[in-house]
Amino acid sequence: MPATCPVSTSPGSPRRVRQPVLLFFNRGLAEELRLGLERQDDTALANLFAGNTLPEGAQPIAQAYAGHQFGQFNPQLGDGRALLIGEVIDRHGQRRDIAFKGSGRTPFSRRGDGKAAVGPMLREVLIGEAMQALGIPTTRALAVVATGEPVFRERTLPGAILTRVAASHLRVGTFQYFAAHGSPEQVRRLADYAIARHYPEARQADRPYLAFLSAVAERQAALIARWMHVGFIHGVMNTDNMGIPGESIDFGPCAFMEAYDPRAVFSSIDEMGRYAYAEQPGIARWNLARLAETLLPLIDANEGHAITLATEVIDAFPERYQHHWLAGLRAKLGLSGQVASGDAADTALGESWLDLLHAQGVDFTLAWRRLGDAAEGFDAPLRALFPGQPGLDRWLQRWRERCAAEDAGADRAALRAEAMRRVNPWLIPRNHRVEEALDAASDSGDLRPFESLLNALQRPFDEDPALARHAEPAPGEFMARFRTFCGT
Ligand code: AMP
Ligand code: MG
Repeated sequence: MPATCPVSTSPGSPRRVRQPVLLFFNRGLAEELRLGLERQDDTALANLFAGNTLPEGAQPIAQAYAGHQFGQFNPQLGDGRALLIGEVIDRHGQRRDIAFKGSGRTPFSRRGDGKAAVGPMLREVLIGEAMQALGIPTTRALAVVATGEPVFRERTLPGAILTRVAASHLRVGTFQYFAAHGSPEQVRRLADYAIARHYPEARQADRPYLAFLSAVAERQAALIARWMHVGFIHGVMNTDNMGIPGESIDFGPCAFMEAYDPRAVFSSIDEMGRYAYAEQPGIARWNLARLAETLLPLIDANEGHAITLATEVIDAFPERYQHHWLAGLRAKLGLSGQVASGDAADTALGESWLDLLHAQGVDFTLAWRRLGDAAEGFDAPLRALFPGQPGLDRWLQRWRERCAAEDAGADRAALRAEAMRRVNPWLIPRNHRVEEALDAASDSGDLRPFESLLNALQRPFDEDPALARHAEPAPGEFMARFRTFCGT
């Protein structure tokens, strides 16, 4: 691995924070990263994660990147309010980035103030930890400190700094930056770095840069399928928010779907629904095509041939995605997939289930969860979710026939229910609970709802009556006016 990342950077230093207060510290993650912070008290941790006392040898940098935002290319974005503090090798031998978000202006701040507010930074904690507990690749929050300083948005908000951990902060937009401003040689250095760090097997391929593109596409296909299966809507899948390592990153206007609706979109600025739930696989493909464009000169010296090869990879994305989606769907339906029922038949079975949820506005998470109960013969909780019954009965009959075909006379009901409970979460971050927790922290400095929700999100597959208030769907009237905002 090259010693330093060739990403164009600007040295930076966090602004000093006069009275930082530690709002969140992820001890488990700190241990995983072997940071040796066990003996530090809250004041020391607050100073550390405010950037007042940087670790020895740290040379913070702001990274350059470009990106397509809502389809429009911006050649110059970059870390406008973030700083990469350093890298560590974790317990598993993996290299991880540690970065601040909200630590002040950088050369890439444009007209922004470089700051972040308590609410959006605690949202990064909740969503990242929920993703982690759901087993979905994600960046994670290591700490959040309140700066005690105001941040001026539509209204005045308390300021905060997030410390974020990522497999790396390389984005599709990082490649776009060098393709737009640099030479193919610089893109090559960046690609070599990304390959060494994230996709070393691509180095052995006949065409390493094509193999790299293909490997990034594979991880994105797997990731987006995981999002779709928990109803996650990222909200702002700009190319600068798509990470090369394949982790979920930048939880600004994201939300989890409640009543199933493929058109669901909550972001206040996404008026056209570009980043709506059902659009996400198509957008991932579009973003990968933008990555492919930056790699063309490396793929083949003959541009026409390079385009042909890259296009094959991009055109294969829907099939890759479908493969992951169907594998996840079968698991959610309690099917092992070992019976030769056919991909088309299982896809149709899953889609008609989703059509049913859509037609009757049923809660996505609970419907899947209660289907697991129905696998054991407890249909009543499932039925209670559906306002109308006939469609459900017909569908359940089809599903049971499909299950029986797989079971070949054996009684697998309990096993199936158990397996379904391991993939269909009982608890996701419910939008009204997230808002409630962030409002309490931001408006009155009350962290109790945040801590209680964070605790509940740790075991999303275990049904616990004591946590029932966190599992209940948001009231319809709340969702009718629910909008999310970029964390600016
Ligand atoms: P995001 O919408 O958070 O993905 O950010 C898009 C771009 O705007 C990135 O280049 C950010 O660094 C930049 N940005 C967002 N908020 C701020 C801010 N408050 N100050 C400076 N730059 C910002
Ligand atoms: Mg971003």
